[in-house]
Amino acid sequence: QDTQPAYRRILLKLSGEALLGEHHYGVDPAVLSQVAEEVCELSRRGVEVGIVIGGGNIFRGAGLAEGGVDRVTGDHMGMLATVINALALQDAIERAGRFCRVMSAIRINQVCEDYIRRRAVRHLEKGRVVVFAAGTGNPFFTTDSAASLRAIEINADLMIKATKVDGVYDADPFTQTDARRFDRLTYDDALERRLGVMDTTALVMCRDNELPIRVMNMFAKGDLQRLVMGESVGTLVEG
Ligand code: UDP
Repeated sequence: QDTQPAYRRILLKLSGEALLGEHHYGVDPAVLSQVAEEVCELSRRGVEVGIVIGGGNIFRGAGLAEGGVDRVTGDHMGMLATVINALALQDAIERAGRFCRVMSAIRINQVCEDYIRRRAVRHLEKGRVVVFAAGTGNPFFTTDSAASLRAIEINADLMIKATKVDGVYDADPFTQTDARRFDRLTYDDALERRLGVMDTTALVMCRDNELPIRVMNMFAKGDLQRLVMGESVGTLVEG
């Protein structure tokens, strides 16, 4: 029956930069509510939605380290930046009409819940959107790695990597007019050809646990909904 979603549970990876919109720093409220609407629509269709949010719109550990900040401290700042984004997203999702819980990998429990896997799964089963904050909780990792880790932990059927482009290309589509988009790639293609789908750690984790990834444009209206209804949107990375 084609009115049923093709996925029971998904993990959506949103970069912090996606929240910038027209701004150079922080969060664009218009973008935030657009993202929240899309997420709530998925949830209304009965799809269980977990989200890992990045922090690159505020701080990145590697960038701070270039400016002389201790790398581990910089990564702590980056992880806290993801908590700020997660709180903003939680607020926007609840305003858009679905219940939401932020769960943080580092304890900051007057602000949000701690990440406890069984509790996260329970929230999802109850139809609440769960936003996983603070990445993996460890320095030297990225939120892409956190996304693959959480997706595997919660047994997501699919990880969706939402970007500014509508899939994975063999060259930069913004500068190369003849860049070709892949409909499908294997994990090993993505790794060997360094196509920039996500970092190596994240990709290897997906490969070893057979978690399929869809790379798509978060801002192409309707694409996310078509994707969960089973249409081929963006680029599929699988075995
Ligand atoms: N970070 C970290 N450990 C993690 C996830 C993130 O230390 O498990 C830090 C790291 O400094 C990173 C920052 O948080 O640069 C923001 O995350 P990321 O760069 O992945 O955000 P995005 O690019 O998705 O906006």
